[in-house]
Amino acid sequence: MLYFRELVTEINWHIVKQELAGLDLITDPATVAKLSLDYYHFSPILQAQLQDKRGELVIRPLNEAEVIQVAKTCVRYKIPLTIRGAGTGNYGQCIPLEGGIILDTSGLNQIIFLKPGIARVEAGVRMAALDKEAREIGWELRMVPSTYRSATLGGFIGGGSVGAGSLNYGQIKERGNVLAVRIVTLEDPPQIRELRGDDVQKVLHAYGTNGIITELEIALAPAYQWAEMIVVFDDFMESAHFGQALCDSDGIVKKLVTILAAPLPTYLTALKTYLPQGCSCALLMVAESSLEALLELIEEYQGHITYNKNATEASKGISLLEFTWNHTTLHARAIDPNLTYLQTFYLTLDKVEQMYNHFGEEVMIHLEFLRLGGKTIPAGLPIVRFSTAQRLEEIIDYHNQAGAGIANPHTYIIEDGGNGQINPAQLAFKALVDPYGLMNPGKMRAWLELSNSP
Ligand SMILES: Cc1cc2nc3c(=O)[nH]c(=O)nc-3n(C[C@H](O)[C@H](O)[C@H](O)COP(=O)(O)OP(=O)(O)OC[C@H]3O[C@@H](n4cnc5c(N)ncnc54)[C@H](O)[C@@H]3O)c2cc1C
Repeated sequence: MLYFRELVTEINWHIVKQELAGLDLITDPATVAKLSLDYYHFSPILQAQLQDKRGELVIRPLNEAEVIQVAKTCVRYKIPLTIRGAGTGNYGQCIPLEGGIILDTSGLNQIIFLKPGIARVEAGVRMAALDKEAREIGWELRMVPSTYRSATLGGFIGGGSVGAGSLNYGQIKERGNVLAVRIVTLEDPPQIRELRGDDVQKVLHAYGTNGIITELEIALAPAYQWAEMIVVFDDFMESAHFGQALCDSDGIVKKLVTILAAPLPTYLTALKTYLPQGCSCALLMVAESSLEALLELIEEYQGHITYNKNATEASKGISLLEFTWNHTTLHARAIDPNLTYLQTFYLTLDKVEQMYNHFGEEVMIHLEFLRLGGKTIPAGLPIVRFSTAQRLEEIIDYHNQAGAGIANPHTYIIEDGGNGQINPAQLAFKALVDPYGLMNPGKMRAWLELSNSP
């Protein structure tokens, strides 16, 4: 039985706050405003749509029992609930469209167990903290977003998708990366459910619309000593071919291969000593034990090494990782706020070249490689010189029609940011665990359509 939100009556916040008084509540309007937003402003489209959205109050539970207490209150008074990890999402994933309670998971930060190949943790654990602990036993996270220092594992599972390491292990949703999730539901009364195996897909990248993840179990990768290197090239397509060749070199152990077309490197001002004017570049993380083989490949593609740190040196300063993935966009926007970005699955270097030649500097190519269906393919986060919403649409359409699929980052709707298709398993699971439609309302198109159908 589903109960749609028309049934919701006025919420008496005084009573709600009294009922939750024993928990860590944040009501100060400035802090609530800050914790209501994320990095939605990377998109000029979302900026206009989301900048005024606010929750009523923020709650920071310290354990699962407190999460259940919040869930009970939300169900009793039919209060919208939006979950927040570190709030580094880019599509307004954790911005409450209908006010209500923001559940900040940063207090749920315990590592439950770590053993060779597997970690089980609470959802608010910071990825860098977990990685550090895992490395103590010779393992590491299979993939990390460039926000790994602040992002939570729950937020990555709920709203992220890829990162350094994805060229070996694919997207987070690939079978075997996430082994189990434990959630608290908004049924009446709230339940605890554990999903394992393929069932975890029901809540992956669901923006916290169908369950509060309290614990997760993930697969780990063997840890390596990662050297960091910048290689520069005179010609962009040569750098792209180098990137693909490195990814295809099965004997070279690597974690990150980022290719930036000129003039993108000029936006990485902290690295400007290593990035000559007019160059395209590769930012790399490669196992120290593979460096000799890498040098031969670099020579073959006529690249020039301008930055070369062994793992010990690399671990001291800021990692090159924080100039890649969507950090490239962050740095570029710091120089020119009129820049925005796309998320593109080029699939082949032919498509990369087509887009490069067609758009020139209007869409500056930023490649990241990832494993898909057994092959490593070029994907990326090209930087767009924004002019109008209509032109942005035209750029997206051109890519899609050419077969360079765009995961649109200019929408807060889950399906529209993916392949446009409704996910029946996620929808059915939402109907089961959130029958009142209280969780992050407005983000799942399938649910909106269901609740608006006669
Ligand atoms: C500069 C920059 C670089 C980035 N680079 C990358 C990248 O390399 N790869 C990538 O995939 N993303 C990237 N992102 C996006 C984002 O940082 C990641 O997706 C990150 O993993 C989100 O983690 P978070 O803790 O900040 O989650 P939040 O932004 O707080 O939440 C993300 C979503 O997950 C939901 N959620 C959070 N916790 C839970 C929970 N416990 N249960 C259920 N749902 C939950 C939230 O409701 C929200 O919908 C980048 C963003 C920025 C600003």
